[in-house]
Amino acid sequence: MSDTLTIALSKGRIFKDTLPLLAHAGIEPLDDPEKSRKLILDTNRPEVKLVIIRAADVPTFVEYGAADLGVTGKDVLLEHGGNGLYEPLDLEIARCRLMVAGHPDRPLPRRPRIATKYTTITRDYYARQGRQVEIIKLYGSMELAPLVGLADRIVDLVETGNTLKANGLVPLEHIMDISSRLVVNKGSMKMKHAPVRAFIEQMAEAVGGRRSAA
Ligand code: AMP
Repeated sequence: MSDTLTIALSKGRIFKDTLPLLAHAGIEPLDDPEKSRKLILDTNRPEVKLVIIRAADVPTFVEYGAADLGVTGKDVLLEHGGNGLYEPLDLEIARCRLMVAGHPDRPLPRRPRIATKYTTITRDYYARQGRQVEIIKLYGSMELAPLVGLADRIVDLVETGNTLKANGLVPLEHIMDISSRLVVNKGSMKMKHAPVRAFIEQMAEAVGGRRSAA
């Protein structure tokens, strides 16, 4: 059926913060992904399904049309490259900053080692500044790298700064602000134009409503 809509979301913060926006569009999931092991959730609207996947996989599902729409962080989209996707709306949720962090008082070698999950963004950031660095790819717990001598600096998402502080690190350079975005498969935008447009408009209205209530 051409008017079914599949929306890709990840568990946790994105799911929690997207729920009220979906509710504004008249969509309520029938299961809680924190409690259920189902990966496809039905909603109160029979034509709308949610697929629950890792945030980093959302661009891939949407690019290949396995989901018509998705929600994921700008960090994930920049690392993915964002090819084959429309990004029509900043949902202004899961807001944080991508920062360089480290020990402020340790001297840096000529070519510092930077540990990060965000190798593409980090490479671009240092290249734009003409700074020579060695980038070390990690999949998590970046804060550990400077503590054990693996890296001189890390590039990571910072929300409250509590994780850095708990590990004796400080934020040093602000790379960019990050928030979650609505992404749309290019084919779905054409073939399912009416329901996709209606959904984007309802989400935009919900974001606007939240902003004016804040
Ligand atoms: P905080 O201690 O509040 O600064 O949060 C930092 C930790 O949460 C780091 O491990 C980050 O990778 C993660 N984090 C912060 N904000 C986000 C976000 N919007 N999306 C995903 N991870 C985040």
